[in-house]
Amino acid sequence: MIHSRIDLTSVRRVVIKIGSSLLADPEHGIRQDVIDRLVDELQTVMQDGKDIVIVTSGSVAIGRVRLDWLDRELSVHEKQAAAAIGQPQLMQAYAKAFARHGRVVAQMLLTKDDLRNRRRYLNASNTSETLFSVGVVPVVNENDTVVVSEIKFGDNDNLGALVSLVIDADLLVMLTDVEGLYDRNPDKHPDANRISEIYQLEEKHETMAGDAGSSFGTGGMASKLSAARVATRAGVAAAIISGKKEGALTRLLTGEDEGTLFFCGIDLQTRRKHWISELLKSAGEIHIDLGASTAVQEHGCSLLPVGVVAVDGVFDKGDCVEIIGPDGKIGRGLCNYTAEEIRKIMGKSSSEIETILGYRDFTSLIHRDNLVLSDILKPSEDHPGGQ
Ligand code: GLU
Repeated sequence: MIHSRIDLTSVRRVVIKIGSSLLADPEHGIRQDVIDRLVDELQTVMQDGKDIVIVTSGSVAIGRVRLDWLDRELSVHEKQAAAAIGQPQLMQAYAKAFARHGRVVAQMLLTKDDLRNRRRYLNASNTSETLFSVGVVPVVNENDTVVVSEIKFGDNDNLGALVSLVIDADLLVMLTDVEGLYDRNPDKHPDANRISEIYQLEEKHETMAGDAGSSFGTGGMASKLSAARVATRAGVAAAIISGKKEGALTRLLTGEDEGTLFFCGIDLQTRRKHWISELLKSAGEIHIDLGASTAVQEHGCSLLPVGVVAVDGVFDKGDCVEIIGPDGKIGRGLCNYTAEEIRKIMGKSSSEIETILGYRDFTSLIHRDNLVLSDILKPSEDHPGGQ
């Protein structure tokens, strides 16, 4: 795991997320010159024995330019059409750039539904392993032409964080058009300072990120922080660096003070918990009282029927449900009983389950190993050795 910048010299596998604002602009459309320059740097990284996966944005932006759909909001279907036009152009540009180094690229288009499905998740992982073994570069994007909002990753920063788990990466690098996270908006405040290292994401960082983003992509700094949170909780370090600055990636990977680096926290989630918190769709809600809420949140207990006050929705055993305390959502988890069964045993002690339902497979409704608490950002407080 990465504990200091110098550890970056020994990463094995890196996800490189490249934002739309770097890859396309209204005047040139696709920026082959930028792609060539970034690919030259990636080639050096690969020659150093590291595996890389590119998570690329840009298909919608390139399609927009191609169709001259520039000065207006696009409908969902127009964006999907633009993506269908831009994606092959994007792949061609990567293929051309890597061909100069004798390398082949492979396209992987994913949806959130693909990664929710365990078998497809493993297929994506096995495909990438096979591509690494033959020195081919996987280039991933969201399969924009088929997704609607419920099954969208949201933005490619989030996709990058999830891909870093699929391929078991050590590091997620987000290349963008600024040099990292600043304590104030650097466009408005010339004396703004770059935050070099973050050990624990806090509210103050979210405030610094604001909602600044380029009009050409969907991300912005807030979505990069959110991706960094997802990655670091699962044990993958994350970095935001400039994709405009020549050599920034090389400097980052040689341990120099480049961009903003996010270290993995101490409250690491297992891959299983990560799966529950980031990928599964919720099928219903279990409302619990204060006692149960304290037991779950503060003592790490499993959720028992006795603390349940209401159940919303129709769900089956094994489904993912949200847990709602008196003050709102406190977490989510995989349920051991159906919604109908919980309605019968709620408020009762676990010893009564068998009498009421006629069987008892589990004493808890949600075992603590299958329960993930909501991520609550810590209030600002300075950490030794970083921000
Ligand atoms: N998948 C989108 C595209 O290729 C990009 C989404 C994003 O930039 O976050 O245009």
